[in-house]
Amino acid sequence: MKTTESTTEQTQSTTTQESSTGAKKSTWKLQDFEIGNYLGKGKFGQVYLAREKRTKYIVALKVLDKEQLKREGVEHQIRREIEIQSHLRHKNILRLYGYFYDRQKVYLILEYAAGGELYKQLQECKRFSEPEAARYITGLAKALKYCHDRNVIHRDIKPENLLMDSNHDVKIADFGWSVHAPTTRRTTLCGTLDYLPPEMVEGREHDSTVDLWCLGVLCYEFLVGEPPFMAPTQEETFKKIKDVDLRFPPFVSIDAQDLISRLLVKDTLQRMSLTELFEHPWIVNNCPAQ
Ligand code: AMP
Repeated sequence: MKTTESTTEQTQSTTTQESSTGAKKSTWKLQDFEIGNYLGKGKFGQVYLAREKRTKYIVALKVLDKEQLKREGVEHQIRREIEIQSHLRHKNILRLYGYFYDRQKVYLILEYAAGGELYKQLQECKRFSEPEAARYITGLAKALKYCHDRNVIHRDIKPENLLMDSNHDVKIADFGWSVHAPTTRRTTLCGTLDYLPPEMVEGREHDSTVDLWCLGVLCYEFLVGEPPFMAPTQEETFKKIKDVDLRFPPFVSIDAQDLISRLLVKDTLQRMSLTELFEHPWIVNNCPAQ
């Protein structure tokens, strides 16, 4: 690991953070970290492995370029992401320990997910076995239950937003589209096309049940290797979503088909709840130690 002593002046942080030792720290700066391997590039910046010098605690440091955030008009989105993610504490949600900034960059101090992207893993093996998929879906459903109980809707559950830790536990990593939903329902069109629920495609109001739809699409993609409403054009995908044109290859078990069909329901009130999901035979039989 090389150290970064040549850091920028005017580094600031505004959050009070707990370090791994439980010690509170109110002002992080780049000099507090040794920067290690490059982990990857996202839409708005780079991510590096880093170690907090005092505690030796390993984290992932996401470096965002302020100018780019401004140019792309996503400052508000990043602020919301930080505000929401930093308050969530769940085994299946990537921790955001804190943030700081200098003149040019914003730095997010994130939990390090040693297993990398779930998306890459799915690409490599094409599809997951049913027990493996059930374990991931159970972890995600638990994380979503935790979010919904706190009036947070994620709205963008898809393989690209999921990371894995060293135990192969799945972590929701991106809260860029999440919203607090105390009583209001939001109608913004967001998320990847293949994962959009009918109510969002049709521009209707939506609530936390959008995450149940996305969980159904994700479960299908885990088992089949591609999302259920994939089509050559956007219009065709939208039509398939609106018609809930759902077909299963024969290798998908009857129980898995049943679970997915109960999540991919057009009437949001009839969609299977997360509590019902935990009791579904496909989850119970494939993931007994949930
Ligand atoms: P992102 O900007 O969040 O899309 O991140 C870009 C890439 O960096 C991802 O695709 C991952 O490969 C990697 N990455 C991001 N966050 C982490 C993390 N907390 N732990 C490990 N790798 C990460």
